[in-house]
Amino acid sequence: MIQEAVSVLPGVGPKRAQTLAELGIFTIEDLLSYYPFRYEDIQEKNLLEINDQEKVTLKGVIVSAPVVSRFGYKKSRLQFRMMQDHAVFMVSFFNQPYLKDKVEVGEELAVYGKWDAKRKSMTGMKILGGKQTEEYAPIYHVTKAIRQSTLVDLIKVAFEKFGEQVTENLPAYLIEKYRLMPRKQAMRAMHFPKSPAESQQAKRRVVFEEFFLFQMRMQGLKQSERSEKNGIAIRYDVERLKQFTQKLPFELTDAQKRVTNEICYDLRSKKHMQRLLQGDVGSGKTVVAAIALYATMTAGFQGALMVPTEILAQQHLESLNQLFDPLEMTTALLTGSTKTKERRAILAGLQNGEIDVVIGTHALIQDDVQFAKLGLVITDEQHRFGVNQRRVLREKGLHPDVLFMTATPIPRTLAITAYGEMDVSIIDQMPAGRIPVKTSWIKPKQLEHTLDWAKQELQLGHQLYVICPLIEESEALDVKNATEIYEHLSEYYAPDYQVSLLHGKMKNTEKETIMEEFKDNQSQILVSTTVIEVGVNVPNATVMFIMDADRFGLAQLHQLRGRVGRGSDASYCILVASPKNDMGKERMKIMTETNNGFVLSEKDLELRGPGEVFGFRQSGLPQFLIADLVNDATVLEVARDEANQIWQIENWRQQPAFAPLAQVLKPTETGETYFD
Ligand code: ADP
Ligand code: MG
Repeated sequence: MIQEAVSVLPGVGPKRAQTLAELGIFTIEDLLSYYPFRYEDIQEKNLLEINDQEKVTLKGVIVSAPVVSRFGYKKSRLQFRMMQDHAVFMVSFFNQPYLKDKVEVGEELAVYGKWDAKRKSMTGMKILGGKQTEEYAPIYHVTKAIRQSTLVDLIKVAFEKFGEQVTENLPAYLIEKYRLMPRKQAMRAMHFPKSPAESQQAKRRVVFEEFFLFQMRMQGLKQSERSEKNGIAIRYDVERLKQFTQKLPFELTDAQKRVTNEICYDLRSKKHMQRLLQGDVGSGKTVVAAIALYATMTAGFQGALMVPTEILAQQHLESLNQLFDPLEMTTALLTGSTKTKERRAILAGLQNGEIDVVIGTHALIQDDVQFAKLGLVITDEQHRFGVNQRRVLREKGLHPDVLFMTATPIPRTLAITAYGEMDVSIIDQMPAGRIPVKTSWIKPKQLEHTLDWAKQELQLGHQLYVICPLIEESEALDVKNATEIYEHLSEYYAPDYQVSLLHGKMKNTEKETIMEEFKDNQSQILVSTTVIEVGVNVPNATVMFIMDADRFGLAQLHQLRGRVGRGSDASYCILVASPKNDMGKERMKIMTETNNGFVLSEKDLELRGPGEVFGFRQSGLPQFLIADLVNDATVLEVARDEANQIWQIENWRQQPAFAPLAQVLKPTETGETYFD
């Protein structure tokens, strides 16, 4: 790697170095690999061969004097005519009146811009100098403090002085196997491609390199976590566990059996479990968690179940208590609103080992909570429970096995990046007897009519959810006000049915009461913001209305929809929305067409991109510079397999063939800062 600071280049003083640093450029290597995000094709074209709206370079002779007209506040237009082979066309530049000086009748000029075929005119973007040599101009992300052309000049000088020092970092056999462009050539071609083909090959190489290095780091991290000296072997009592599963109120599905085996295998082994359990809403993850917690208890270890909300914690406690015999299993609930006295008792119970399983929110692993013998941590719908939280556990001297449960069907490409250091178990089967939720999409004006229809369901003794996006009136977002809807529905269904309201601003005790009332069918209609998004289980609820459904992501809609269809009755999800654009319509349509969460999240990813779907910060997804998680998905998989094969080789770092690779990976080998 070329470690010299950029300040060795002529023209880079302290000020410019600072500007470059803001772009993340410190060394010559950084500068050479500061790739453009797009190119402009500035080959000269003939008027006859260009299409409408195409961005092209046209060369010709200026045949009319430039005229600047001003309009509006600070706006202007510079216009002149050019002629190419006897054909005359108009060129306009907006808000660059100073270009006038460069335009002289009778002179030849090359202009890059967008062609309007109907008007036979070009909206100019730049005037090209006479000494233009490249045919593709690289365009970089820059700040106000540095111009494109300055950056290009610096990169050129850097290539002149250091270009020969660029070394290969991938093993030779991979270059050969995938016919990758050598690094030295690819780096140059990324900036100054000679043809679209060369540009494409360079990019292919860079994408591979980016994914491959990422996977090497990820898997290195995985290995070091695995081999953690003090990983625990949870030697559970096989006989007791068998009896426990036989006494469950239902027979496990084949998928549940399979993932249970995978988890139990990890528990027993000394290796440090880092497992992601994916299963669509309603696929029955809770019981799998219960089995794992039970197994842990029989080995004399404690378990913790962490969830994002207090309602969910409460509900999990209830579900688990139904499955566990209180004589052999002591459970406790620990959340932010646990009263001081009770809290003190629970902390004592955890510390002396009397409590076998604790269920709670984030506070569980932080604060002053001490465990006698923590063996297993399960997190449910905790997307944010990532590298950092695991670090917290480690710092407390704890190395429990960890199981992450999620109903958000993470597409494969994302799973192997975001959760690349984990093993994945998938429940891909629903318990028998479920009738798929029927989803329809209606316009707001059809709402009254549909509410009338819903009365039939109420008459059958069933219940409804009505989901609203936000609680407070927000003009900007134009969302329905939950309170307003609540009032409207209370009137609409009075006096036959009770409506209740649930939203995030309520006190926890208040929320619990309302949930309890709904569960007990004391209220039949629950108007709620998305606080019920995860985990709530009321099998008697068969209809869900989702207001302004187009404001939600597909994965989130699917999660919400999973709250109905939990019993044996037919159930319905009604999306109320009038999306403004085609993408919105497409999203509503696809919801009505499939009940498969994986299909939906793939689609969401395709339509909105990973940033929108997951939010990088939130998910801990890494940002790639050139590679694209959606479009380059297959490359990612190949890169992962190749990285995996290298990590299988004992002491690969000591082998000469991998020396450059080992060198590149050195600084961030611990991997942890990689995600922040
Ligand atoms: P999720 O995966 O969404 O967390 P739950 O664990 O809440 O799903 O399970 C949904 C419902 O299905 C619960 O009422 C649960 O008791 C029931 N259930 C789970 N597994 C089975 C099974 N194998 N057969 C029948 N019902 C099951
Ligand atoms: Mg669940």
